[in-house]
Amino acid sequence: MVPDASAEMALPAKLAHVNNGRTLFALHEWRYGMFLADYHTHSTFSPDGRDGFPAMLEAARGTGLTELCVTDHRDILSGRPFLTQERYDAFLTERAMNKTDVKLLLGIELGEATHDLTEAEEAVSAVPYDFIIGSYHALKGERDFYHLKCETEDELHQALARYFAELPELIAWGKFDVLGHLNYPLRYTALPVKTLLPRYGDELRNVFRLLRDAGKGIELNMSGQKKLPFKEILALWRECGGEIVTVGSDGHRAADVGRGVAEGFELLRDVGFRFVAAYEQRRVRFEGI
Ligand SMILES: [Zn+2]
Ligand SMILES: [Zn+2]
Repeated sequence: MVPDASAEMALPAKLAHVNNGRTLFALHEWRYGMFLADYHTHSTFSPDGRDGFPAMLEAARGTGLTELCVTDHRDILSGRPFLTQERYDAFLTERAMNKTDVKLLLGIELGEATHDLTEAEEAVSAVPYDFIIGSYHALKGERDFYHLKCETEDELHQALARYFAELPELIAWGKFDVLGHLNYPLRYTALPVKTLLPRYGDELRNVFRLLRDAGKGIELNMSGQKKLPFKEILALWRECGGEIVTVGSDGHRAADVGRGVAEGFELLRDVGFRFVAAYEQRRVRFEGI
């Protein structure tokens, strides 16, 4: 599509404030409807990932992705294995050998950075990542919510209260690009929670104000039955002036690469977003959706 000179005029004014006032739109990248990217996937360099880069790239091509960002886990203080230099070398090799037209990007899903900032600093500076998801899978001194199922309402609300109280420290540290699967405590509870706004509207607005002012974004995580955050929360992010959103499958197998991403883009359009964020060397740009 030939870019129309009015296209840039139509961009939200606030986007110009991202990246120190530099608008990163390049007109030659103006491709409405052609961009489809999965910004949350795991390879065999995650302890729970099943497939390597070649299989993931093939799967990405099969699902029509234009970009694939691999975001292997590094959970702070977990003691779980990670292979930073080996992963980076493998990434460079696979990228050089990539026969698909899918752009391969290297990210990391950094879990619980504030549980040990020294380890977190080392993790983010180990290799030149394109993109960093800041996730919060566990409260301080606790195990991953995967283990704490929050089976009663009391347990869930205590967990959420602590979660919202601990997030501002992560945002203040800020060495990430988007906050991963916001409201993660909901992922594993069997309680039928349909809305968070009546009870946690103030906490969410506070988190969003901090993120927006820091030039950070959120991700829409399409894994499993519960897409996080809920649609009402995406709408609140937009209402609070939030503009940066990435979409990810959180796939841990090649077969899951790209799963739900087109649906996620549709959900963002429904809420009123006209752009999705993409990253390279930690710099954001926006693609029309
Ligand atoms: Zn995660
Ligand atoms: Zn993940």
